[in-house]
Amino acid sequence: MADKVKDPVCGMEINPESAAAKEEHEGRTFYFCSQACHHTFVGDPHRYGHPKDEHSGHAGHAGH
Ligand SMILES: [Zn+2]
Repeated sequence: MADKVKDPVCGMEINPESAAAKEEHEGRTFYFCSQACHHTFVGDPHRYGHPKDEHSGHAGHAGH
């Protein structure tokens, strides 16, 4: 069973062996489903490299 990883940009689960791109950020390696996602990550790695909360849909953050 291959370890799947999550594309931090779009959230898609991908196999590292078939990832279109990868990027190391602060000691961690991130994998991407496409060059577009890789490009987005590189443009703002702190936004995607440090997810505040994995539980999407949790309404704990008071925006606005
Ligand atoms: Zn992606």
